[in-house]
Amino acid sequence: LVSRGNKNEDTIIKVKQTVIGGSSQTLIAGPCSVESKEQLVTVGSTLKKSGLSVLRGGAFKPRTSPYSFQGLGEEGLKMMKGVADEMGLVTISEIMSSNQIDTAAKYIDIFQIGARNMHNFDLLKAVGQTKKPVLLKRGLSATLEEFMLAAEYILHHGNDQVMLIERGIRTFETATRNTLDISAVPILKQETHLPVLVDVSHSTGRKDILLPCAKAALAAGADGVMVEIHPDPTNALSDGKQQLNMEEFQTFLDGVRDSGLYH
Ligand code: PEP
Ligand code: MN
Repeated sequence: LVSRGNKNEDTIIKVKQTVIGGSSQTLIAGPCSVESKEQLVTVGSTLKKSGLSVLRGGAFKPRTSPYSFQGLGEEGLKMMKGVADEMGLVTISEIMSSNQIDTAAKYIDIFQIGARNMHNFDLLKAVGQTKKPVLLKRGLSATLEEFMLAAEYILHHGNDQVMLIERGIRTFETATRNTLDISAVPILKQETHLPVLVDVSHSTGRKDILLPCAKAALAAGADGVMVEIHPDPTNALSDGKQQLNMEEFQTFLDGVRDSGLYH
C-alpha cells in the first residue's frame, strides 16, 4: 500500500491550513519536551512570526533512564492545545502506547510514533484505526525495508495519512548522536508515495551542523525538516545540548531560506 507501484501520486497531508507533501515543504519546530505554557507561547510566537505553522513537543517522553524527566503527560498536551488554538498552529506529539491514543486525540493534530516504537506493532495497528495523520520515525537500527513495512501496518489498518521521518540510525560513529542516513530520503521518495521528512536534531545531536544537514535533506528531496527549539536550552528538561534557542533558530531559518532549496 505504501509503494509507488500501488499509487503513483504523492500523498498529501492536510491539517487545518497546513499542507505536508506534494509540492510544499514544511519546517516543523518545537521543544523536545513540553515544559510549561510560557515555553510554548515563546516557541509558538516565534513560529508565527516566521510564517511557520507546525509545533512539535513531547508530553509522553521515551527516556533512556527511568530517572530522567518523563514528560508532563496529558497536562502537557492540554498546554499544547491551548497555545495552538490561540495561535492557529498544528501540533505533533508522541504517543508511546495504544492506551494513550484516546487522550492524545483530544488535544493534538498529528500522532508521532517515535524511533523506539517503530516496531511496536500493536501501536501501529491502533493508530491505523484512527483518522489522524501519523508521523512515523525510523527505528534506531531499522532498515528502510523495515521502516516501510511499519508504515504499511498503519495503511493496512485503514489510515493512509502517514509521513515518514528519517531521524538517524545507530552506527559506530561517535561524532554525532546518530548517523543521518541522507540516502534514505531519495530511496523512500522513490519507493513510496508518502511525505518524507528529516529530523536534523535527533540525527545529529549537535547544533553546529543543523543547517548543512537541513540543506542536504531538502536537496535530496525531503518534504520537510524537523528541528528542536527551546527558549532556554541550557535549562531544558531533555535534549538541552541539541536544541536551538530562538535567536539561533532565526539564523537557522534564514540560512535555510537563503539556500534557495526551501520554497
Ligand atoms: C522526539 O522526537 O521527541 C524523539 C524522542 O525522537 P526519536 O523517537 O527519534 O528518538
Ligand atoms: Mn528530543
